[in-house]
Amino acid sequence: MPMFFLINKNSLFSLNFGIAIADNSFRGRYIILANNIRQSETDRQKALELLGREPRTPFIIKTRCADGSPQVLLADPVFKEDNIWKPFPTFLWLVCPELKLKAAHLEQEGLVKHYSERLQTDSVFRAEFEKGQKEISKIRIEMAHQILGEDIPEHIVEILTETTIAGSRNIAGVKCLHAHLAQELAFGNNPIGKDVLVQVGNCQGNHERIKQ
Ligand SMILES: [Zn+2]
Repeated sequence: MPMFFLINKNSLFSLNFGIAIADNSFRGRYIILANNIRQSETDRQKALELLGREPRTPFIIKTRCADGSPQVLLADPVFKEDNIWKPFPTFLWLVCPELKLKAAHLEQEGLVKHYSERLQTDSVFRAEFEKGQKEISKIRIEMAHQILGEDIPEHIVEILTETTIAGSRNIAGVKCLHAHLAQELAFGNNPIGKDVLVQVGNCQGNHERIKQ
């Protein structure tokens, strides 16, 4: 039975990014509704169709486009492969075709490098970004606790704590605008995603136009 969670972002507080230990003081501060999410088969099929593959981890639809179709999926941050639990830090997936296309266009215009440089030169932007990544680390660790129990293997704790939402160990390694946009849409705490959203606007659910 997959376990899913609703998380109250207002209850988040900071953790020292880069410290590979579980922060037990944080436990129990989320609103967790394990196994309480009901997903219709229609929703699941639509999400899989947009994702284009069968994911290795269970997921829920975290946000929706204006027409109600899946926009951001939230997956478990750990998965089992060959009977071994492995970390999965990039646990938010942007599946809206319109926003994916617009984010790709911005990447082609060199925005990945732009934001990477801004993280190294704009201290306010950097601080806001680090705060959001710490919050994501806490969410991932808490979800891993719920799935694996108290004893999370050290290598999983390290990856889930020390990588960004885009899977980079370097805080300024922006890598992919889609991941940052997904985090902003899902949790409202990613200044890169926020800036992208200002530029492209949220999806109005006009997906047919994108397919043509
Ligand atoms: Zn959309």
